[in-house]
Amino acid sequence: MPIHKKSTDVIIVGAGFAGLAAAIEAKEAGAEVIVLEKMRAAGGNSIISEGCMAAPGTAEQQAKGIEDSPALMYRDMIKAGEGLNHPALVKVVTEEAKEAYLWSKDFLGVKYLDRVDQFGGHSVARCYTTESVSGMDLIKKQLARLKALNVPVHTGIYVKHILTGPDGRIKGTRINEDYHYKKGTAGPEKELQADQAVIIASGGFGSDISFRRAQDPRLDNLIMSTNKLFATAEVLKECLAAGANPVQLSRIQLFPWASPYEKGFGAGSRFGNNVVLGHGLIVDPKTGARFINELCNRKDMVEALINLGRPAVGITDENGVVKAGWDISRALKKGVVKTFLSLEELGGHFGIDSRKLKNSIARYNDMIKAGQDDDFNKIFPSEASPVNTPPFYAMEMWPKVHYTMGGIQIDSCARVINRDQQPIKGLFAAGEVTGGIHGACRLGSCAITECLVMGRIAGKNATG
Ligand SMILES: Cc1cc2nc3c(=O)[nH]c(=O)nc-3n(C[C@H](O)[C@H](O)[C@H](O)COP(=O)(O)OP(=O)(O)OC[C@H]3O[C@@H](n4cnc5c(N)ncnc54)[C@H](O)[C@@H]3O)c2cc1C
Repeated sequence: MPIHKKSTDVIIVGAGFAGLAAAIEAKEAGAEVIVLEKMRAAGGNSIISEGCMAAPGTAEQQAKGIEDSPALMYRDMIKAGEGLNHPALVKVVTEEAKEAYLWSKDFLGVKYLDRVDQFGGHSVARCYTTESVSGMDLIKKQLARLKALNVPVHTGIYVKHILTGPDGRIKGTRINEDYHYKKGTAGPEKELQADQAVIIASGGFGSDISFRRAQDPRLDNLIMSTNKLFATAEVLKECLAAGANPVQLSRIQLFPWASPYEKGFGAGSRFGNNVVLGHGLIVDPKTGARFINELCNRKDMVEALINLGRPAVGITDENGVVKAGWDISRALKKGVVKTFLSLEELGGHFGIDSRKLKNSIARYNDMIKAGQDDDFNKIFPSEASPVNTPPFYAMEMWPKVHYTMGGIQIDSCARVINRDQQPIKGLFAAGEVTGGIHGACRLGSCAITECLVMGRIAGKNATG
């Protein structure tokens, strides 16, 4: 969509959760806003997310008797992040999380499933999932709101440069119109001026192999990623060139529970993440034994898998699948999750000694009945039951690059901070392009929370 204007109040780079939240708030605050998106459609990685968002202290939790608070969520995030998280950012995200969740529900009209889930590393159930189990629901509602507000979302616009004025203030962007990612073509360059601010919401760099490999040489082209192919670092690099301070760029999260036999996030990840962790066990095929608390955080799980040096096998049974209540039909149809009528059959398929496997599962089942995991301290969800009802379901699991915790430094007002720890005038940022909120390890479902909280803050503060 060509842009006929030469200037506007606020330019937003990126049309994912963070950029669209910022656009809504900036417009509501009275600014003229333009959203620039390089792809032919809005959504970024946000649209392919599972749509799970964390928030503490909600009515949904209260109805289920779950005690939670921003302080507890703060503690969970800092613990997973190994204390590398910037405290002021975690504070604002956890304190504003409930308000952001209610905003998505009551203001935008996003519908959530009638369930509250507990993902690895969270000490209580505090995750809400959109009705279609996809970020699509939220993106659609954000776009509808922007349409009603008359805010243009220009697609096919590649932001090439962030422009700084002689006074050091960010004054706009240089763009290519008619950018075509697949064809690798772009129209001529042109400048677009921002009279008030530029908000960067260009997402993570999980698919930028050269950039991610420079941060962590282990993450070469042989490691698969759950991200869209266009999740690259060009705008992040432009921000660094404009003086933004880089934070923890080498902290890159791998998603541990993905199938190595399909591309991207795939259909198997939901089985791994949402079914096996709470309702099953994970074994080393070589020993047939458990080797970790299945509900640990992603970083610990990835390290354990890499130490193992081979895909582990996640196992549950019919009861586990029913109790978890997630639709895994796509994973079954694709054959990444397989069903077995007996543990002998399951062991035979994955090359696991059936006697050892049966012993591990019998021990696990005894500990579930006793309510205590003497081996790995897993806190069994209240509805967890012994794994003994055929058919058994199993999948091989191996990590894929998923999320980039590092990025440009921001403060709790979403202002981009320079190398001298001063805000860069006229430059704001939110979402996965920023660093410091999650430290060493992001907890599942906290990215959507972060995008909405910090995106809204960026939009409100960028105006005026
Ligand atoms: C498969 C998958 C499942 C996930 N599930 C969950 C979940 O359930 N819960 C959760 O909390 N987190 C989840 N995450 C993480 C979360 O979805 C992302 O961190 C979040 O959506 C990022 O949002 P964003 O707005 O920062 O970036 P994005 O949504 O990636 O948007 C950035 C946009 O900027 C555009 N852009 C980039 N460079 C340029 C440029 N040069 N010019 C113009 N535009 C540009 C991109 O094309 C993109 O559209 C998941 C991630 C993946 C990959």
